[in-house]
Amino acid sequence: MNFADSEIVNSILIEDGMTVAPDPESADVILVNTCSIRENAETKVWNRLKELKTIKKTNSDLTVGVLGCMAERIKDRIIEEENLVDIVVGPDAYRDIPRLLAEVDDGRKAVNVLLSLEETYADIAPVRTTGNGVSSFVSIMRGCDNMCSFCVVPFTRGRERSRPLESILKEIQQLSDEGYKEVTLLGQNVNSYKDGENTFTTLMDAASLINPEVRFRFSSPHPKDFPDDLLYLIAERPNLCNYIHIPAQAGSDSMLERMRRPYTRKQYLSLTEKMREIIPGVSLSTDIIAGFCGETEEEHNGTMTLMKEVGYDLAYMFAYSERERTLAYRKFEDDVPEEIKKRRLSEIISQQMEIQKERNLTEIGTHHLVLVEGTSKKSEDQVSGRTDTNKIAVFDRRDFQKGDYVEVEVTDCTSATLIAKPIRKTTISEFYGAAVEA
Ligand code: SAH
Ligand code: SF4
Repeated sequence: MNFADSEIVNSILIEDGMTVAPDPESADVILVNTCSIRENAETKVWNRLKELKTIKKTNSDLTVGVLGCMAERIKDRIIEEENLVDIVVGPDAYRDIPRLLAEVDDGRKAVNVLLSLEETYADIAPVRTTGNGVSSFVSIMRGCDNMCSFCVVPFTRGRERSRPLESILKEIQQLSDEGYKEVTLLGQNVNSYKDGENTFTTLMDAASLINPEVRFRFSSPHPKDFPDDLLYLIAERPNLCNYIHIPAQAGSDSMLERMRRPYTRKQYLSLTEKMREIIPGVSLSTDIIAGFCGETEEEHNGTMTLMKEVGYDLAYMFAYSERERTLAYRKFEDDVPEEIKKRRLSEIISQQMEIQKERNLTEIGTHHLVLVEGTSKKSEDQVSGRTDTNKIAVFDRRDFQKGDYVEVEVTDCTSATLIAKPIRKTTISEFYGAAVEA
């Protein structure tokens, strides 16, 4: 999401006459876009700011800004503790950056952390200078009203609001015209997307018709209200990827209740079963928190068994990190000792690695459609890309280019990667057309 936000900021600054500097040393302005979701995300930013101090020493005219959730959460601390920071801008105030920069020119510190009920940056065409030119993010809504008890997002990103459908479709059309092949639609709870009569399903429907050779993913839906009609649409449309990220957070009812996640383990499991029934071969991923307030060994086991039962293809796993202002901060105690949190998290991670390896082994011999994203990290002679099911696949380069769709056969795997043999360059329509005939 921050990646997408930085592209919006890029656009605003370029519109104002600025250009992107080749490196931090030659920049006049350095803006750090920040995340507050966990303590270690903020620690990274404090470290980055320390690094920037060295640059400021050699360039006293340098303006340094902090953008995003940290700006929103701890504006005073940033200004007071870091003599370095000149401007502080919250996630809804990016349009104001040119004015704030002008204020700094007059020697003042400039701050705008006002949250908005309407801002979606709908009319701003993001300028994509850092992506791979093949896959891209499109933000469809901002903020969150869910108030999960552990989460700071509703406080830093404000109320939930959806971006008008037409502006989203226009941006996707533009990406398609520029040659992008994959778009991930972003929101904190995409299921609650709403623009008049339009729902997230009608948005996905319209988006998928723009260009049958551009494929779509989304992140994140919430398990409490995942719509059935979207599952049928994904099953039917070749360019809606057979991959769903469906964050569970925990596996026991008592823990889900404390987390204010309004579903039970049973409801969650029947949702994932339904996903697998309606979309054969769908891959599923999740977010999990270990060591949330009051977590018992039994509740931890609940998370472990849920993960085993679902058999996720991928999981993002975190130790609980207490965030000020949240309900958990106000009402509960962060009472699971650090070493127990760590032990539980590592149990969760090692079980997940085993599950992934097992699942990937069953892929050997199967064929997938991979979108080539670039050179493989390990070898210049290989390219890497993702399957429709969001697994990383690597295979011989031959004369494949970034942005090509390639049919591959899986020959081997690790827990994180499919090793494959390329069969032929193809298209979505050709690959799935043939699959349907077969
Ligand atoms: N809106 C998305 C989540 C966005 S935050 C959703 O509800 O699915 C991404 C992930 O960060 C969350 O799913 C959660 O697993 C994790 N997270 C959020 N707050 C956290 C905290 N205080 N400590 C640890 N992990 C947290
Ligand atoms: Fe945070 Fe919950 Fe909103 Fe996701 S749905 S951003 S976890 S409050």
